[in-house]
Amino acid sequence: MHLKKLLPPSWKRFLPLSWINRCLLCGRPEITGPFCIQCLRLFSPKTNSRFCPLCGRPYLIPARHVCAECKLDPPPWEKFGFAVFFTGIFKEIIANFKFGTSFYYLDFLVGLLECGFWEAKLDVPEVIVSVPMSKGEIQKRGFNQSLELAKRLGKRLNVLVAKQGLSKIKETRPQRQLSRQERLQNVKKVFVSQKELQNKKVLLIDDVLTTGATCKECVRVLKQNNCSVQVLVLARAVE
Ligand SMILES: [Zn+2]
Ligand SMILES: [Zn+2]
Repeated sequence: MHLKKLLPPSWKRFLPLSWINRCLLCGRPEITGPFCIQCLRLFSPKTNSRFCPLCGRPYLIPARHVCAECKLDPPPWEKFGFAVFFTGIFKEIIANFKFGTSFYYLDFLVGLLECGFWEAKLDVPEVIVSVPMSKGEIQKRGFNQSLELAKRLGKRLNVLVAKQGLSKIKETRPQRQLSRQERLQNVKKVFVSQKELQNKKVLLIDDVLTTGATCKECVRVLKQNNCSVQVLVLARAVE
């Protein structure tokens, strides 16, 4: 990968105008997104038959079956889609976005998310909700990255986004510091779903799915409200 050549977006304002519309990886001019078509091809290819259709767990060889873990403990959602694997350059771009250092790639990421939606053949929902953050987390970060994705995807699909559809009523420890078992415990009974979502066909958006503990708990709460739920995430972590 040409990671060293990747320019931090904040540098853009110091670049001469002739550089503004150049691919951030190879410098090819006159492009519409941050990367040219040739460089986009370098990004981890995601073929339809190399992952579990229910959770996105990657397989080394093409296979269409549900993975052992999903067979043992089926996820509560009806359908699952994701845009990319959380590896290589995507890890860097998504982390930059997630931790608020750059919104430059947001439109690009939403484009990928929408591709993931159609690729997974998800049904157009009645309403989109995002995995919520607690008040403390929003104060700390300043925005909810999943909500930013959801709002823009809603515009593209022409679907209503319920910004307060789910809320997080307790502070939790960051999931990434915890083991699989601790993650499940950490998010238990921390989400509540708005009554307005009752009986709706919901699409739940998150940025990165790792063990799925957070999404599973959100879906559980939505199902208590008699919703049918599909899940769409930007990136699927590769354990
Ligand atoms: Zn390029
Ligand atoms: Zn699976």
